[in-house]
Amino acid sequence: MTDHAHHGPATRAIHGQRQRDAFGSPHMPIYDTTTFAFETTEALREVSEGRRQGPLYSRYGQNPTLYALEETLAALEGAEAAWAFCSGMAAISTLFLTHGRRGIACLGEVYGGSLALLEQQLPDLGIATHLLPGHDAEALERCLAAGAGLVYLETPTNPTLTLLDIQAIAEQAHRHGALVAVDSTFATPINQQPLSLGADIVVHSATKYLGGHSDLTAGAVMGAEAVLAPMWRWRQNLGSALAPHGAALLSRSLRTLALRVRQHNASAQAIAEALPAYAGVARVLYPGLPDHPGHALARRQMRGFGGMLGLELAGGRAAAARVADRLALFTLAPSLGGAESLVTQPCTTSHVDLLPEERARRGIGDGLLRLSVGLEDTEDLIADLRQALASLETP
Ligand code: PLP
Repeated sequence: MTDHAHHGPATRAIHGQRQRDAFGSPHMPIYDTTTFAFETTEALREVSEGRRQGPLYSRYGQNPTLYALEETLAALEGAEAAWAFCSGMAAISTLFLTHGRRGIACLGEVYGGSLALLEQQLPDLGIATHLLPGHDAEALERCLAAGAGLVYLETPTNPTLTLLDIQAIAEQAHRHGALVAVDSTFATPINQQPLSLGADIVVHSATKYLGGHSDLTAGAVMGAEAVLAPMWRWRQNLGSALAPHGAALLSRSLRTLALRVRQHNASAQAIAEALPAYAGVARVLYPGLPDHPGHALARRQMRGFGGMLGLELAGGRAAAARVADRLALFTLAPSLGGAESLVTQPCTTSHVDLLPEERARRGIGDGLLRLSVGLEDTEDLIADLRQALASLETP
């Protein structure tokens, strides 16, 4: 835990970075430098042999702009350390290669790229992976007893916004000496702090809310120094560290993270409450609604319910496509977490490769739309949804 323990998230996002450059700039400038000079061989060896942290070579992650970003990222999650990567998938694959070699138990729904690694590529390398239901403690117990060393989960999940109990899962995993890593991309560090609930590692696709403007691709892991340390060589030699320009852009975005997330939360809640009244709406999936199956857990483990929302239409695939096409302020595009609202139909995008029965088993109906609620005026977003839904009433 850093000495920001007593600060709130908005303060951490702004003051998490303590390093200043030689001229006292309030933020770390972009060191677009690939290599750094030393006065003596001994001074160089101190850094290259890991006795002192300092700039050396940017691909290794040894760059002042990256260090400054990582201080903020660590402060935001209440972590000892954080490392930044060139994408969310770079962070996740490096995590799996480092800590997954004894076997990985993956719980519930996860992002398609993570799933592809777990289902196809890691087994090719001889890494045992187990895709388990989210809420099956007995299946997890068997997997842990068989020696799996890493439990991996997302909460809330994509696209059904299912909640998993981080604390209960961490307690179970720790009884077997396994690590728990949580992809907290949907929640953000503002709404959820997995480390404080017992997780060992937090992963983010910083491409989403942390970046927040759909203009950068980045990833991050946060956790205790000793847990992250073995990942360092993998990041170095896979070449997956974030480059300085991306790091500076992400640092800048983090300064407004708390402000943005509060607005995402407020708008999504208002939309979730308004939608059930409209004709054609079969179901609204949002953890902030009392009828959401994970609502009680969300109240316990989250400080806000997030900006992602599922909208299931009674008219199925055609109705969902029609509404998506009629929306004017929700742009039809994958991804999430930006200032602009986005809409996708998971059966045509993120989950297109699954058979219809498999999607149904996972609760992903063909009439489901996934909304990433942006930062536009809430009333404008509700009016846009209202007019798009009204189009279902005309032939
Ligand atoms: N995790 C989640 C929950 C995601 O939604 C995504 C991408 O959509 C990723 C990880 C991968 O992130 P990136 O696209 O930055 O590699």
